[in-house]
Amino acid sequence: MSEHPSTMDPDLAQATPASMNLLDLSGRPDSDMESGANARLAWGSRSDVGLLREHNEDSFLVRPPLFAVCDGMGGHAAGEVASSIAVHTLAEQAPERADSALLGAAVEAANMAVIEGPAHGRGREGMGCTATACVVEGDKMAVAHVGDSRLYLLHKGTLVRVTHDHSFVEELVDAGEITADEARVHPSRSVITRALGSDPDMYADHFTLDVERGERIILCSDGLSSMVTDSDIEDVAVSTTSPQSCADALVSAALVAGGHDNVTVVVVDILNDGTEAEAKRKRRRAIIAWIVAAICAVALLAGGVWAYLGNCWYLTASDGHVAIMRGLDDSFLTMPLSEKVVDTDVSLDDLPETVQHQLEDGIAMGSEQEAHETVESYRVQIERSKQDAAQTANDVRESVPDQAQNAAKPTETTQGGAQ
Ligand code: MG
Repeated sequence: MSEHPSTMDPDLAQATPASMNLLDLSGRPDSDMESGANARLAWGSRSDVGLLREHNEDSFLVRPPLFAVCDGMGGHAAGEVASSIAVHTLAEQAPERADSALLGAAVEAANMAVIEGPAHGRGREGMGCTATACVVEGDKMAVAHVGDSRLYLLHKGTLVRVTHDHSFVEELVDAGEITADEARVHPSRSVITRALGSDPDMYADHFTLDVERGERIILCSDGLSSMVTDSDIEDVAVSTTSPQSCADALVSAALVAGGHDNVTVVVVDILNDGTEAEAKRKRRRAIIAWIVAAICAVALLAGGVWAYLGNCWYLTASDGHVAIMRGLDDSFLTMPLSEKVVDTDVSLDDLPETVQHQLEDGIAMGSEQEAHETVESYRVQIERSKQDAAQTANDVRESVPDQAQNAAKPTETTQGGAQ
């Protein structure tokens, strides 16, 4: 959950306000940090014992998308045990999604774990801790909170405190009896009105916020907020580049201010809130929808054309015979728009020349039945023509003897007249 100290972020010196003196935290005892990044978030953290305390009773949790700070109370290292139990319970039970109800339930489970700790040989009776946790998922952040640790959100250069302290001085501020600056130095500033470790019925504040790319989340123990004003926290948050440089600068500022308490800071930058990816998905879905619509339109058009061609009929000349065709006597991109349905036995030579010419150009038919009837009429016409020709030939043959006989009779009459 934490790592050993490392050297200060190289951009820290340039990024921190010139008015703020910085300490080199790399050599600090009992000062832990952890940083990292993924595609959506970048984070940094620092926890320091401070300048007056012997032990660091704060614990922090960096397990993206879950982040938490717990400030232990109880003395004699029991507070450290309480905060350690709390972050381990959160690590086990916090949701992976930005579900504030489940995150609040995880904080309440941590409360029970702290209460039951002494019975299991961990810590002492009366130990307790605060808990401020968040889960960042896309453009949502779930927050659960108990005590006076805080969660801030830096939005477009303005620092907004998201959590409400469960402390005596916060109640005085709410009542208008003291100011926020007076609360920071009030003698009762460490009196907590709600914490983990005492009340089994304790409930955690929990809610969900919208967040967006470019925003910075800061979780801290009161070792920061009691030593550094919100205005100075904002200055550091605005002027530092990386989350780790911000966490180091804030801890450094708390130490420069006196370091009266343990100080823990976790900083999370939102690199990608998912809205761009969602916009891409929407554009991709729109393109796919257009392609599908275009394919459907082409398919419908092709189906309509096919259905139309299926109802077109015509007669044509094919290899010296009459053929019945379906479709149009034309082509599209070298693809014929018709097919031969029947190759009839009606010979073109048996038809009148005018009909032959018409067939060579194609004769449109209203239906398949009309095409068959027309072909049948050709057969009848041909048969009738053949019969007429045969009758004519027969008449000619019969007429030839009569003519010969008639031609011989005048000769006989002439001869008889001469006798
Ligand atoms: Mg504290």
